[in-house]
Amino acid sequence: MKVLVIGGGGREHALVWKIAQSPLVGKVYCAPGNPGIGLIAENVPLAVDDLDGLAAFATEQAIDLTVVGPELPLSLGIVDRFEEKGLLIFGARRNAAIIEASKAFSKDLMKKYQVPTAAYDVFTEVEPAVAFIDRVGVPIVVKADGLAAGKGVIIAHTREEAVGAVTDMLSGNAFGDAGSRVVIEEFLTGEEASFLAFTDGKNIIPLASAQDHKAVFDGDTGPNTGGMGAYSPAPVVTAAIHDKVMAEVMRRTVDGMAAEGRPYRGVLYAGLMINGDQVKTLEFNARFGDPECQPLLMRMKSDIVPVLLAVARGDLSGIELEWHDKAAVCVVMAAGGYPADYRKGDEIRGLEDAARMDDLFVFHAGTSRKDGRIVTSGGRVLGVTALGATVGEAIDRAYRGVAAISWDGVHYRTDIGAKALTR
Ligand code: AMP
Repeated sequence: MKVLVIGGGGREHALVWKIAQSPLVGKVYCAPGNPGIGLIAENVPLAVDDLDGLAAFATEQAIDLTVVGPELPLSLGIVDRFEEKGLLIFGARRNAAIIEASKAFSKDLMKKYQVPTAAYDVFTEVEPAVAFIDRVGVPIVVKADGLAAGKGVIIAHTREEAVGAVTDMLSGNAFGDAGSRVVIEEFLTGEEASFLAFTDGKNIIPLASAQDHKAVFDGDTGPNTGGMGAYSPAPVVTAAIHDKVMAEVMRRTVDGMAAEGRPYRGVLYAGLMINGDQVKTLEFNARFGDPECQPLLMRMKSDIVPVLLAVARGDLSGIELEWHDKAAVCVVMAAGGYPADYRKGDEIRGLEDAARMDDLFVFHAGTSRKDGRIVTSGGRVLGVTALGATVGEAIDRAYRGVAAISWDGVHYRTDIGAKALTR
């Protein structure tokens, strides 16, 4: 088979790495890919939003399966476009990807189908939004409706912050169109987890549990990022929580989407807040989480390609997923300044040393090649991911990898996975 992966971050590097191991696959392309991906697949210089270019490439090269990584092409309708041309593609159609592309849509869906979530309201005008903030009080959470790369959520601890966030978003100063509607919701406490599942619109196959680390600094402090690290399994997702999420979140959402005439096919990601035996859904994503994808795919024992094919064909029945007993931890190494304006073009040293380490893989996220060297080019630069018999062992191994790598201005959290050790 020939497989095309769309995207060029750490998630896509992990997908390419896993897909390339399948005995069913002879050749993997990745658009646009990155220098790390280029070592195991062929990078194709097409942007993720160039739907015409991508469809033409898939047709010309007779690609057997296309796998979409990021949310942008999904929300632009890449799956619909490929299916019109008779091309097999893994991902949510446009009318289903809205579950991520509009937070107002996903909150309304959750309310309608009794998926547990924080109390909320949706606003397009400042005045009623401020009245709502005054009624609920702080802390309170203000979310841009549209896609904002994981950064459109403001946890406001003062009235001033909340009103400022609402005013910035609704005036179009923050996040442009994505902020022309806002969701304002109750602040929840607890521990977060990422729950992902493959679904064909009827059958649901959960992936292993995982936990992301959104805040930029240790101890979950500082502004939110796209994700500074992840690990799997996440002990906060006990067997009882797992069953509850499958019944109350995944089943109700998949059935609700079908009932809305928006059958959901692809990977559905629920961001959860868990407090004791209570589970609430913070958000849905229509794709693999990044960086959760890296540790999850390192732990996946089954060949992923038959699963992706079954989802793309719309029938998951009979498919099972097996996992390695080992734990996996991914530490994201970021460019100086990230998540605000960040440095670019710094030379990365030590990649060869890390490549020689056992049970460790360095996934590239924001790198490029310059004069024969690998330099930083994105905010999240590398995802250093390791396996271990326990989360503790995987943490030690991942940080040994991190210690081997350096560049000017690099920063990373030193407590990825620490929450799992306290349980
Ligand atoms: P979201 O993109 O909606 O998942 O929000 C990004 C991050 O903001 C989440 O991972 C949480 O850390 C935080 N967050 C979102 N909604 C809430 C909430 N209602 N209460 C507390 N924290 C939240």
